[in-house]
Amino acid sequence: MRVRCNDCGTETEFTLAGWRCDCGGAWEPLFPARFEPEKVRTEDFSLWRYGDLLPLDVHAPARVMGVGWTPLVPVRIGGRELLLKLEFLSPSGSFKDRGVNAMVNQLAQMGAAALVEDSSGNAGASLAAHAARFGLEAEIFVPATTSPAKMQQIAVYGATVTPVPGPRQAASDAVQALLGLGRAYASHAWNPAYLAGQTTVAFELWEQLGRQAPDWVILPTAQGGQFLGLYFGFAQLLAGGLIAKLPRLVAVQAERVAPIVRAWEGGLGRIPAVAPAGPTLAEGAAIPRPVRDRRILQALRESDGIALAVSEDEIAAAQTQMAHLGYYIEPTSALALAGYLRLQDRIGAGESVVLPLTGSGLKGKPQIS
Ligand SMILES: [Zn+2]
Repeated sequence: MRVRCNDCGTETEFTLAGWRCDCGGAWEPLFPARFEPEKVRTEDFSLWRYGDLLPLDVHAPARVMGVGWTPLVPVRIGGRELLLKLEFLSPSGSFKDRGVNAMVNQLAQMGAAALVEDSSGNAGASLAAHAARFGLEAEIFVPATTSPAKMQQIAVYGATVTPVPGPRQAASDAVQALLGLGRAYASHAWNPAYLAGQTTVAFELWEQLGRQAPDWVILPTAQGGQFLGLYFGFAQLLAGGLIAKLPRLVAVQAERVAPIVRAWEGGLGRIPAVAPAGPTLAEGAAIPRPVRDRRILQALRESDGIALAVSEDEIAAAQTQMAHLGYYIEPTSALALAGYLRLQDRIGAGESVVLPLTGSGLKGKPQIS
């Protein structure tokens, strides 16, 4: 798998030991110049229907997991029809499966036998599920504040769960100290194959909307895996002349941990780390600084996007509102609806809006509001 560093421009072959560039930047896959619709395997109803379009060394899965091709469902909220992309209907219950499925297929092909990851929960659960299916060892480091349901989910797959006290970064530091000891870093933040897998959500939306892009996609954004997957995916569709413009991408964060919003509103070129102002219900989005910071800001600019932060009360209310429509999602996932409710007056009457529902509510305790 050829990769490139967006920070310094180095291009190389990806290796298990070289999990990031020497300059400290994150590797990106060399994406195809444009989307080629004739390469879609229309008989495959998983993310591997795009297997021949992904910049990986594997083009068909070594183990079939049933990840991808999630439903797109219309609902009326506040007088407008919104489209919900049910990403939580995935084997481990979150959108992380899309990237992890691509990543584990790639790492297994490269000969990895043991995988390590630091995660606030969903990525760890997804990695543990895939490691189980592939017969690989997995060790997941989670912040000690992670919800017990998420830790139990990781453990039941057979992975080792190690809670790490202290801030979110402490879990990353603990993992990175272990690398080089025969373990592959299967990181949803750093791994380029993970990012490749997340582009498939853009391709699916394009197909499900009758070969069109939506006008808006409003989503929780922390490390930006799904956000950048949408950006890189729709950019390939745009380059292929298959859509007229990128959808406007809206990155929604919790006010208590909002590094992207702060950098965007400040007009900065990089995203500085923030000190969390307190615990947030949106635990999956409590990332003080995303590693692909320049790309996130670029995607916001190029898509005419918006970054905005919402309060804890708005998150809780949005979770309840979504439950009253029949969708029990986790608080992090409710950032999408909370963001939409902030923005709705700025969205044109005829414009289409997609809200990805990223994670199941069964992973945490309900917040009643
Ligand atoms: Zn570099």
